[in-house]
Amino acid sequence: MKVYGGIEAGGTKFVCVVGNGPDQILAEERFPTTRPDETINHTIDFFQRCAREYELAAIGIASFGPVDLDRTSPTYGYITTTPKTDWAQTDLYGKIQRAFKMPVAFDTDVNAAAYGEYHWVATHQHLDPLLYMTIGTGIGVGGMVNERPLHGLLHSEAGHLHIPHDRQADPFPGICPFHGDCLEGLASGPAMAQRWGQLAETLPADHPAWELEAHYIGLAMANLSFCFSPRRIVVGGGVMQQVGLYSKVRQQTLRIINGYIQSKQITECIDEYIVPPALGNRSGVLGAIALAIAASFERR
Ligand code: ADP
Ligand code: ZN
Repeated sequence: MKVYGGIEAGGTKFVCVVGNGPDQILAEERFPTTRPDETINHTIDFFQRCAREYELAAIGIASFGPVDLDRTSPTYGYITTTPKTDWAQTDLYGKIQRAFKMPVAFDTDVNAAAYGEYHWVATHQHLDPLLYMTIGTGIGVGGMVNERPLHGLLHSEAGHLHIPHDRQADPFPGICPFHGDCLEGLASGPAMAQRWGQLAETLPADHPAWELEAHYIGLAMANLSFCFSPRRIVVGGGVMQQVGLYSKVRQQTLRIINGYIQSKQITECIDEYIVPPALGNRSGVLGAIALAIAASFERR
């Protein structure tokens, strides 16, 4: 039986799995992201061991970024200008691809997560376009459009959306090194920690932080709805673990859209429009497996 490899290459940890889907993971290893050579060698070792035991057919990589997704570019599959400086200009795809005689797929962590939620959860539900947003250490957005991951000039950077910022209500200047008060600068986990002087997970449920956070995320949900007309927006990441935040975000989204988008999906079924990841924190790595499966068909 053929099996597939998935790599979730994150800024703090790598998760590597081998299997056929959510209910069939045969091997898994997690390790911290250290130096690129050390971390990539660890990854290659894991899949070489698995390839001796299973019929490994293809590998998918879901990478932190920014990354180069242009197949015609000499730096295709590189992590490019990441603030994690020792990983800047790292040929992640190439190093994995050269180590294995099999198709290797490569995409952003959030495109892979969108792929995972689409392929393993939403298939046949007519939910294309489907967007995936993570709100954690950073904010990232990926998507499935016409059954393909959303690529463009580079890839979506909708985590850096510019949203209205009322400096009287919220004088915090934001922490994005490029934009200050973009969405990530105002609403990521580290932005919350810096604004309120304590980690987001320690802020009590009745703290005003959560209404403000829901307001910013709601603005992003409305903007993404206007731009892409998605049929579903999956929102994950550590910050969304806060109890009650989904319902606050849904209320804010409805308030901001203000009846303009005339779709029952939004006006009547907002609970199914803005949803937590059905795959929990495994959307990315299971998306990487789905990418690997697609790559194995492409190259036949
Ligand atoms: P990463 O984005 O690095 O992959 P996560 O998605 O886990 O990691 O997000 C980490 C961020 O989520 C941190 O800023 C942390 O403070 C915040 N966080 C983690 N748990 C919670 C929680 N229960 N409520 C609110 N924020 C949380
Ligand atoms: Zn920014």
